[in-house]
Amino acid sequence: MSIPRRLALLIALPLVLTGCATSSGAEDGTVDVLASFYPLQFVAEQVGGDRVDVDSLTPPGAEPHDVELSPAQVSRIDGADLVVYLSGFQAAVDDAVTQTSPEHVVDAATEATLRPEGHEEESPEEHDEHEHGDTDPHFWLDPSRMPSVVDDVAAALSELDPDGADTFAANAAALTQRFQELDAAYETGLAQCDSRTFVTSHEAFGYLADRYDLHQVGISGIDPEAEPSPARLAEVSTIVRDEGVTTIFFETLVSPKVAETLADDLGVDTAVLDPIEGLSDPDADYFSIAEANLDALRMALSCS
Ligand SMILES: [Zn+2]
Repeated sequence: MSIPRRLALLIALPLVLTGCATSSGAEDGTVDVLASFYPLQFVAEQVGGDRVDVDSLTPPGAEPHDVELSPAQVSRIDGADLVVYLSGFQAAVDDAVTQTSPEHVVDAATEATLRPEGHEEESPEEHDEHEHGDTDPHFWLDPSRMPSVVDDVAAALSELDPDGADTFAANAAALTQRFQELDAAYETGLAQCDSRTFVTSHEAFGYLADRYDLHQVGISGIDPEAEPSPARLAEVSTIVRDEGVTTIFFETLVSPKVAETLADDLGVDTAVLDPIEGLSDPDADYFSIAEANLDALRMALSCS
């Protein structure tokens, strides 16, 4: 046996062993799921129904990008039956998952869900100046990318709770259908618009723009807390004037100051486009926010 094959076996062995272990879940019989932030929490809740208990590592109303974890939260990751997260998005969660190596993990970052960061905006020359391998995390804003995560969560839950497999499959099918209907509503709602360019403070809508043939102009970049440079503000102002942009979008979890100041200077409106990273309104959910986003985009882009 060659050295690399022996190594591969050594690495694979613990995975095989833990894969066979059956877990009985929490003491009340429900599966204890820990999601790293809201859209993944939502999927786990919808698929798991009352057979699961879902908690999020990002508190409601908090901005998930730079979440920090307490030692208690790290040990919750260790103790959870299932962890659902997105690698490459929240460094503290990545570290905690590596440290504790929980038995059952769904990582939403697969080839199918993620695209390289800045993919739409950059020329090939510009792209070469950046490190390769960085991906844009915000896949959940393209509803057509959600069903593969739904399936992964349903499969993991069925392994943990085989008696619930039929329920999880039915819930997953219903949820997938809702994502497909939302995708169709976006497709139709954004088909005929006077403009296809939208300006947003937090550059979270690249997947959405790709899917529905829109052009996203981000003020602050992928990280919502980043301060835009004066040069970037000047570029965005030029785009707003040249393309007749009527609205600058900001989001609910981060201060709207930059967007408001720029909109004031340019004499255009501001409106909310929510990246669905956390809930600021407890009565809202993924679908109600996504529908409000569609309305806001249709208004700003004058869609018929
Ligand atoms: Zn974001």
